[in-house]
Amino acid sequence: MVKLKSLRRASVEKLISAENDSPTADVDSILLSLGFSKSDIIIGEKEITPKAHENFQNALERLLAGEPVQYIVGGCEFMSLWFKVNSSTLIPRCDTEILVEQLIEKLNGKAVNILDIGTGSGCIAISLAHYLPKSKVLSVDISGNALKTAKENALLNKVDSRCNFEKCDIMNQIPNFLPDVIVSNPPYIPSQDIDSLDRKVKDFEPLSALIGGGEDGLDFYRRISADMPLSPKGILAFEVGIGQAADVAEIMSRRFENIEIKKDLSGIDRTVMGNLK
Ligand code: GLN
Repeated sequence: MVKLKSLRRASVEKLISAENDSPTADVDSILLSLGFSKSDIIIGEKEITPKAHENFQNALERLLAGEPVQYIVGGCEFMSLWFKVNSSTLIPRCDTEILVEQLIEKLNGKAVNILDIGTGSGCIAISLAHYLPKSKVLSVDISGNALKTAKENALLNKVDSRCNFEKCDIMNQIPNFLPDVIVSNPPYIPSQDIDSLDRKVKDFEPLSALIGGGEDGLDFYRRISADMPLSPKGILAFEVGIGQAADVAEIMSRRFENIEIKKDLSGIDRTVMGNLK
């Protein structure tokens, strides 16, 4: 039987040659998902059983083929909560935590109705429900499979009694719900830019969650800003792609005021938020 230490070293080397950019973290996530503890992994003296070794090798093959580790282990952390993810959902990004944190701060525990448009794994909706225990959330998505995952995540995080899920094609339908807050991280990448994305993203993440409508990728922002019902002075909060914040602020300015743009941890303008006029 092989010791964790040598297995870990050999796999990290293979991943480095395959140009994986987070080899140690990926190997460790797989070992954790196989039931090893963090100290088992650091000490490295434990031996891996033949069955676990086989599972590890399968996971390593997938990593070597470029698949994101979150899909291989079936989940990831977001806002210190665990979310299941699969090929029907985008992998939650730490940039999106900025949007959620900003809303939690702004809403300050108030009892609000929140609409999350394009919920995917449900990471935004469910984190808001968790950190704002008086809130109620409606999550909509065009993908039935994404909604199924989001529902499982609401159960997993024990907020299912305050979360509802509805299939909705937002470009053609309007949910029958009057929210105080609309939040959305819609697909925003212009279709002509898809080729320039990292292979890990474009080959494995759902394209429908990535490609925004219209030449500039901003059609979801136009539709949501112009047409979604919102209670008086209600909040609209978006995540945006690189270089889109000013255009989205302009789109919002017809119906919204107090528009604020905030940066992510890399200094990129990442969220745009405002109040209904
Ligand atoms: N709301 C989800 C997230 O932020 C999904 C976003 C999307 O699919 N565009 O991860």
